[in-house]
Amino acid sequence: MATTERRPDLADLERPALEAALEERGHARFHARQIFRWIYRHGVTDAGAMTNLSRELRVSLARDFTLTTPVVARRETSADGTEKFLLRLADRRHIESVFIPDTPSMTFCLSTQVGCAMACAFCLTGRMGLARNLTAGEIVGQVRVLADALNMREAPFNIVLMGMGEPLHNYDETMKALRILADEHGFEMSPRRITLSTVGLLPALERLATEPVMPNLAISLHAPSDVQRGELVPINRKYGLADIIDVCRRFPLNKRSRITFEYVLLAGVNDSPQDARRLARLVAGVKSKVNLIPLNAAAGIPFERPSDEAVDRFARIVSEHGVIVSVRKSRGRDIRAACGQLIVEGERASPAQQLAVLAFGG
Ligand code: SF4
Repeated sequence: MATTERRPDLADLERPALEAALEERGHARFHARQIFRWIYRHGVTDAGAMTNLSRELRVSLARDFTLTTPVVARRETSADGTEKFLLRLADRRHIESVFIPDTPSMTFCLSTQVGCAMACAFCLTGRMGLARNLTAGEIVGQVRVLADALNMREAPFNIVLMGMGEPLHNYDETMKALRILADEHGFEMSPRRITLSTVGLLPALERLATEPVMPNLAISLHAPSDVQRGELVPINRKYGLADIIDVCRRFPLNKRSRITFEYVLLAGVNDSPQDARRLARLVAGVKSKVNLIPLNAAAGIPFERPSDEAVDRFARIVSEHGVIVSVRKSRGRDIRAACGQLIVEGERASPAQQLAVLAFGG
């Protein structure tokens, strides 16, 4: 392996690890704070530009570390202001990240894996299988790139981990990314502004409940019974609904938070009045809200979007059972940036077709 490949990546280090790495190389630990400010507050992508560091330290940083930043390969803007970014990683794989304005806040939707192992039936990413996990630096790198490209370093924004991949299947790097994002000398993101969406990998969910940096939790439910959910979300055959709901009941929530149950509505599959009643009964007693997502039909997804009447009827029934319910407004459909429509055309093996649809499902 070449020497350069073994150099630690500044983008991948939490501040305590950076302090230790600097100390090992004979530098004062406090420089880690300055370096964090340069990378996360000023958007610097080259140690040479960190002008309040001594020349000697800059030379040492350039020699002993890398600073990897995803590259914007393509950027598309929807008529409604949604922007889709195709980002190229250091190994030339691609991921997509989306900027969604006015939701009501500004929101960045991030990927946590290249591909996904969960194989949900309505999601093309799942069909790709898992190519690899993203590193913490690549997860945070999406925020660095979007904040820069959108000129939003000073602006508040929310983050949803609802792009490509299952965040809890890449647990350690995802949590590390959240700690880097929360660092007071970096983006200083409150965990309350971050939502992690998962299909419900039980052991990881239990572990998440003990984390000091705790994001908001969204569970991709998508069906009110084990039989139906097992067809749509295969991991349900291993971790069933009763166990997931049980963990949700015990999940530590602060006073103002609720768990979000995401439910993709598929015409004739999970959108009947009976499904609505079952769903309401299932989540009864969990401090939660239900977010209904009418499917954005896309080539390769073998399901249809329900009619607006069916969506309204479903929402009304859930609401009549005392459950807080909202219907997700579709954004960026004209650039295929809407839920379930994001497509990555990979360049890695061939410029032909490596199709992936970001699922907004986690
Ligand atoms: S919906 Fe989410 S968890 Fe399921 S296959 Fe797609 S990306 Fe993976």
